[in-house]
Amino acid sequence: MSLSACDIQNVCVLGATGSIGLNTLDVIARHPGRYKVHSLTAFDKCDALFDLCVRFEPEYAVLVDVNAAERLEARCLAKGLATKVLAESKALEFVASHKSVDIVMAAIVGAAGLQANLSAAKEGKKILLANKESLVMSGELFMKAVENSSAVLLPIDSEHNAIFQCLPNGYRCGESLSNTIRRVMLTASGGPFRGYTEEQISKVTVSEACNHPNWNMGQKISVDSASLMNKGLELIEACWLFDIAPEMIDVHVHPESIIHSMVEYQDGSVIAQMGNPDMRTPIAYGLAWPERIDSGVSSLDLFSIANLSFEKPDHKAFPCLDLAQEAFKAGGTSCATLNAANECAVDAFLKGNIPFHKIPDIIARVLSLAPKVRVMSVEDVLQADLLARELAREALSKLKSSVLVAS
Ligand code: NAD
Ligand code: MG
Repeated sequence: MSLSACDIQNVCVLGATGSIGLNTLDVIARHPGRYKVHSLTAFDKCDALFDLCVRFEPEYAVLVDVNAAERLEARCLAKGLATKVLAESKALEFVASHKSVDIVMAAIVGAAGLQANLSAAKEGKKILLANKESLVMSGELFMKAVENSSAVLLPIDSEHNAIFQCLPNGYRCGESLSNTIRRVMLTASGGPFRGYTEEQISKVTVSEACNHPNWNMGQKISVDSASLMNKGLELIEACWLFDIAPEMIDVHVHPESIIHSMVEYQDGSVIAQMGNPDMRTPIAYGLAWPERIDSGVSSLDLFSIANLSFEKPDHKAFPCLDLAQEAFKAGGTSCATLNAANECAVDAFLKGNIPFHKIPDIIARVLSLAPKVRVMSVEDVLQADLLARELAREALSKLKSSVLVAS
């Protein structure tokens, strides 16, 4: 299909230097007549963002870190690029809601993506949502913003993208599925520690936790996958995206990561979406929806895979899944608290400050201490996020001193 210049879609890539951001740019580069990169953002990776600016010549480049943004501006000027360089997190909102932008790839990691994603939703953009944390934190607000502005919300998380692909044509995220389907079968790889005993889990290292068997991802989501918090966050994400209760979601551990999730209809039919574990498939689906384009992903070879297997998750060895489900049921600011506590605990683990098995302990402690407040505005969410981080810091330092006393 040939597109005229006025059909070219302007894309803002939030989190451009990350795993999802780079995969998005890989797909975009395959379709120069179809997409133009309008803006690229990152936290502080000046060199990586400069290389992307040279390659894609965006109108705007944002680095949240002011010093890094100054360096980027100097390099862009020296190279003769017309790219305008902006700094600080407000600039993320500016580009995500810019009038020239058609598509926003929401691929910042963690709570830091919330405000820019919300501004894209309010401006009615086509939002490709990879940043699940923002939806976990602010589910009702975010879905309302999408509904009120007629934004188009397309899930990029492979499981949710799979579920979306298995739903009837014309389905829009946020519409209730309670009377259409029996359940969602949310698949999980099980992560690198699948089958480990609690004793084995207490000894794992950072590099083992970041070494996912099937997917090549950023550090935070890799640790979340290893603790199964990723599946907990995804369960909450699915409840908001498809307006279903957690009881309608069954987690299936599927170590091969070939079936990306399934939907069971009232008549007993189960529809699955399959493919190689490569994020360029859901990204290409989101970019081109409702059409399909080449993603660069190789064809699925079921003969070499030979077997697809399924297990129940081990709730005892991986308590994060239940913590997430309980937080969703508790409602209010509980999911924002869960998310912030998890971000702090994962960060502490990555820095070598706590062992892996203490991640759920920290989250449970913060959830038990933080007040649950009704969410009326984004300020309530941000307040809960701040408080949870404070409580997590206290819990982490208590843990550190108790370890010092014991040793
Ligand atoms: P990553 O760590 O590889 O990249 C994160 C990006 O966010 C980088 O560009 C970084 O500069 C930017 N960033 C980090 N902190 C920031 C801040 N404070 N302000 C602004 N920008 C900031 O992460 P990733 O693996 O690409 O994941 C991105 C999001 O997509 C996460 O929410 C993750 O859960 C989700 N996701 C990722 C995958 C995957 O395969 N990687 C799959 C499904 C969902
Ligand atoms: Mg996923």
